Amino acid sequence: MIRFDAVSKNYPNGTTAVDGLSLELAEGGITVLVGPSGCGKTTTLRMVNRMVEPTAGTVSLRGQDIREVAAPELRRGIGYVIQHAGLFPHRTILDNVATVPLLLGWGKKKARARAAELLELVGLPATMAKRYPYQLSGGQQQRVGVARALGADPPVLLMDEPFSAVDPIVRGELQAEFLRLQKELHKTIVFVTHDIDEAIKLGDNIAVFRTGGKLAQFDTPERLLAHPADDFVADFVGQDRGIRRLSFVQAAGLPLREGPALPVTASVAEARALDEPWVLVVDDARRPLGWAEAAGLADAGTLADIPLAPLGHTFSLVGDSARAALDAALLSPSRLAVGVDAQGAVAGVADAYELSAAIAGTGGSLGAAPEAAGVAETAEAAGPQLVKGAADPAAAEDADGSGSNTGKTGGGDR
Ligand code: ADP
Repeated sequence: MIRFDAVSKNYPNGTTAVDGLSLELAEGGITVLVGPSGCGKTTTLRMVNRMVEPTAGTVSLRGQDIREVAAPELRRGIGYVIQHAGLFPHRTILDNVATVPLLLGWGKKKARARAAELLELVGLPATMAKRYPYQLSGGQQQRVGVARALGADPPVLLMDEPFSAVDPIVRGELQAEFLRLQKELHKTIVFVTHDIDEAIKLGDNIAVFRTGGKLAQFDTPERLLAHPADDFVADFVGQDRGIRRLSFVQAAGLPLREGPALPVTASVAEARALDEPWVLVVDDARRPLGWAEAAGLADAGTLADIPLAPLGHTFSLVGDSARAALDAALLSPSRLAVGVDAQGAVAGVADAYELSAAIAGTGGSLGAAPEAAGVAETAEAAGPQLVKGAADPAAAEDADGSGSNTGKTGGGDR
């Protein structure tokens, strides 16, 4: 879709901003350009809409050299979002968003109707339409910036650090909203950030740049975490990449065993008879209620009569990642992670060793079947599957009544 062929940008002062870049960006995907400050990300981005012209090489869009297209015409098909939104301060929010449709000669009424539609799309209430940019929070302004860029429904969006100027909580919300929007719109997006976590969260593909405008690696987030090309990339990606990589493995394929579990109506004597340090107590729909510690149990009554240790959190075989499963094991008082099915019923348990053995059984190639036996009935026997967005933080706030004592399954772990 967007192709760089041996593209360089040298400035007259001797700076090489981009050095011999060859890269092909997929249609309908999010490509993130990431790297330390001054490594040529913005320059690369701006060469796509001819705000910067390369010194050497060719940039093409859908097979056409962009030098053959007049800049204004080219930019009509390319939305542009920048840090701090870059809104016109003296225009209302509605008129800011209507800018491009008006420029295209849509007429005021139609342009404003389109703007109202776009504000709704980016999650802003209609009451904001008449306000001015200074009357909005940073996060809201950024949403307006995205809405404005979508004005003419361009197939391509260029986004330069669009979420960097807001606080981490708002940034997380904007990122989740952005992914939701992209699921609907399927734009071809080039996204610049200096934040590797943001890159991993948002990118279908990531181009890591090093100082001097050189491409260090171009890969999927999971491959970047599993196989950094060199020490620079490994360093840039960070030391916890082993754990972060688990976010891309579905929990659905992990092997679970039945584990010591009893209904809450069972007697304490039955629990003791299992001769296990911890017994998982479930309700009549097999939803987990908590852990009973056998050592502390008196010999009378039922499991309903005793205090249970909290589960920590469970993980769902539908939608959670191996990272959430491992986290569940680490937080569990019994050291056993509890996997639940779509109904929130217990599918089985596993400890951290069993989980890591199963994950390692993929031989580093995510998606292969694990060697471990005893796959729970509800789990897919196909093994951990590579999954984009398996543990979308937005999906972690799981209110599915899975029976977890925390009311959550999994963790926001990408
Ligand atoms: P990044 O976006 O990765 O922070 P940029 O693409 O903005 O980096 O800049 C890459 C390099 O090019 C930097 O060293 C920067 O100082 C230099 N640069 C950018 N624009 C100009 C310019 N107009 N003239 C001279 N040097 C520039």
